Amino acid sequence: MKPVDAHCHLNFERFDDDREKVVERSKKELEFVVNAGSNMETNKKALKLGENYPGFIIPNLGLHPTYTNDFNQLAEIKQMIREEDPVAVGEIGLDHYHVKRDKFQKKQKKVFRKMLELAEELDKPVVIHSREAEKKVFEIVQKYSIPEIMFHCFNGQPELAEKAAEENIKIGFTTQVLYSNRAQELAKRIELDNMLLETDSPFLYRGDRNEPLNVKESVEKIAELKQVKREEVVEKTTRNARNIFHES
Ligand SMILES: [Zn+2]
Repeated sequence: MKPVDAHCHLNFERFDDDREKVVERSKKELEFVVNAGSNMETNKKALKLGENYPGFIIPNLGLHPTYTNDFNQLAEIKQMIREEDPVAVGEIGLDHYHVKRDKFQKKQKKVFRKMLELAEELDKPVVIHSREAEKKVFEIVQKYSIPEIMFHCFNGQPELAEKAAEENIKIGFTTQVLYSNRAQELAKRIELDNMLLETDSPFLYRGDRNEPLNVKESVEKIAELKQVKREEVVEKTTRNARNIFHES
C-alpha cells in the first residue's frame, strides 16, 4: 500500500513550470492525491487536473475562507458543485488569523454555513480550514449531518482535536509534523485511525515549495513519533483517505 496526500494545491501558479514532473514523481510513490480548489478559477483548474490524471488527482471544489473578495462567487460555485459532482466539498471553513474584521468574519460564517448546507444536501464529505477559529468551526459542523469531515492542517488545542476525533472527524497532519513541536505532540496523541496525511503543497515545507511526494517523510516521522512500523502508518492513513475521497 502507498501513502496518500489528502490535501494539496497543485493547481496553484507555483507549479506552472513543472507541474507534470511533480505529478509524475508522486505517481510512482503515492496512491492518490487530493487537490482542493479555493475559488472559481482554482476549482476549474482542479477539475482540469482531475481530468488529466483520472483516479490519481482527485478534485475537491470549494470556496476558501480567506478569499473574501470571491465570496460573490458563492452561487456559481454551488452550481458548479452540483454539476461536477466532486467527491468532497473543500476547501471551506473559517480563518480568523488572516481575517480579523468582524464584518468579514460574519461573511465567512455565512459562506461556510451555505457550503455545509450544500454538502449535507448532497451527502458529501467536507474539507475544512479552521485557522484560529477551530472551536467555532467544531461547533458549527456539529449542527450538520455530513458523512465525513476532514480538519485540514489542524492547529488548534490538542484537547479539541481529541474531541473531534471522538466525533469521527479526521485530523489532517501536514508536513509541519517534520519540524513543528506542536504538530509532533499532537501526532502522538491522535490515533492513526483518525489521521490523514497531507502536504498542503505548495505550502508548509520549511520555506521551500512543498510537493505531494513529501508525505513520505511524514510517514517516517509519524512512525518514529508513535513507535510503530511505517507500514502501519501508511495502511491506516491510506484507508482513512480512501473512505473519504476515493471515487468508486
Ligand atoms: Zn489548503
